[in-house]
Amino acid sequence: MKIHEADARAIFAKYGLPVPPSRLVPDAEGARKAAEEIGCPVVVKAQVLVGGRGKAGGVKLAATSDEAAKKAKAILGMDIKGITVEKVLVARAVDIKQEFYVGMVIDRRSRKPLMMVSPAGGIDIEEVARTTPEKIIKVVIDPMFAVMPFQLRRMTSALSADKEIAKKVGVILTSLYKAFMAVEASLAEINPLVVTPAGEVWAIDAKINIDDSSLYRQKDVAGLRDESAEDRGEVEAREAGLSFVKLDGSIGCIVNGAGLAMATMDMIKHFGGEPANFLDIGGSSSPDKVLAAMKIILRDRNVKTILINIFGGITRCDDVALGLIEAKKQLGLDIPLVVRLTGTNEDRAREILKGTALIPAATMEEGVKRAIEAARQ
Ligand code: GDP
Ligand code: MN
Repeated sequence: MKIHEADARAIFAKYGLPVPPSRLVPDAEGARKAAEEIGCPVVVKAQVLVGGRGKAGGVKLAATSDEAAKKAKAILGMDIKGITVEKVLVARAVDIKQEFYVGMVIDRRSRKPLMMVSPAGGIDIEEVARTTPEKIIKVVIDPMFAVMPFQLRRMTSALSADKEIAKKVGVILTSLYKAFMAVEASLAEINPLVVTPAGEVWAIDAKINIDDSSLYRQKDVAGLRDESAEDRGEVEAREAGLSFVKLDGSIGCIVNGAGLAMATMDMIKHFGGEPANFLDIGGSSSPDKVLAAMKIILRDRNVKTILINIFGGITRCDDVALGLIEAKKQLGLDIPLVVRLTGTNEDRAREILKGTALIPAATMEEGVKRAIEAARQ
């Protein structure tokens, strides 16, 4: 789950990270007042759940409160990567002498928290990783011991030769680790962490993603979810009990079981296609679930065809078939559907689907190939 910068800043501040004062406001007048309260210069920042706001024009400096109101007016309503800006954060601006990247993720390989720092801050870290990977210092942290002093020294010395600054950054990294662990984040990032000409260190951006699996016990954090800023399909899927992740391809996938869904996507890629989504309708799927899945997938304009790949165990193939018929009726489907149903009640399912325009496939491979063919037309 992604949370807004304003909320991530509050979490960081709670754990002692140096975050400039800020206010979240919905309009230009609010921005003016916030700038007066905080003291100028300020920076006005679009609050949307995507990165790269700076490049998109969603982050602007203002020297006076009048200017803050003007900048807020320009940013509010702006479309950034498909999301409309409804609120802006007005924060005290700082002078920048140096910009660092500092971040944490869960490292799958070592199955431990991983801290990353780079003196190449302020820019897209994926870009740094691609072009100059040696500029990123990675440290795997053992949660039994937390961040060790020698690990801190390795990171801080890579960022600054100045002892005072290195010391400040060391304290910040320790706090970042605490915050990351406390909210059970899957990612926590400060890009950039800046050094001012006077030698102060400030976290001027804040990004935290929370591990969805921990939300049931992270009640405070769970309340920060902003559904209006999330992908609509993903919100609806969650409500319908489906697990869904939108991707950029043209082949919609309806599959039961996360493993089979992954295998289906792999096979689509293997034969040269691009999946439009990951979707697991889970076990014991009712026709309703299939219908919900279909609606969500069809909202995506890139989808040229849908591949339904069901391995009937607890999931009954006839239930899925009924769902497909219902969906076709209700949604007036005009794109090809490739269906592979195997397992429990597959005979009944085949009976139900007989005479419809659905493209049947006997094996997964055949289904995938047919879907790719259909998507090309
Ligand atoms: P992002 O583009 O979504 O990552 O948003 P950021 O919060 O990182 O802001 C983008 C850029 O705006 C930063 O990399 C800085 O260069 C600039 N910026 C943000 N806040 C300040 C500030 O307080 N002072 C100055 N001088 N620049 C800022
Ligand atoms: Mn940033």
